[in-house]
Amino acid sequence: MSTAPRIVADRARCVGAGQCVLTAPELFDQSEDDGTVVVLAEEVGADDLDRVREAVHICPSGALALETGEETGPLSTTGRAGRPGA
Ligand code: SF4
Repeated sequence: MSTAPRIVADRARCVGAGQCVLTAPELFDQSEDDGTVVVLAEEVGADDLDRVREAVHICPSGALALETGEETGPLSTTGRAGRPGA
């Protein structure tokens, strides 16, 4: 079983800005066809976590996410919770 954090990229959202490639060129590349992100190493080692977090943070389209396989962290902002009674 693997509990290594994983990079998840939504290529449908990627706008090909290339910020992730500049941040971590050994983990990200861009497609020669349309410039969208290509994840080179889905599993993230401890040494790369900070740069992956930075890439997720600076991606202008929100196409990147870091999945830890554990409890959802501060990077998991998939929608707002409902407001009961609102
Ligand atoms: S930074 Fe975001 S929009 Fe730019 S290439 Fe990477 S995933 Fe795509």
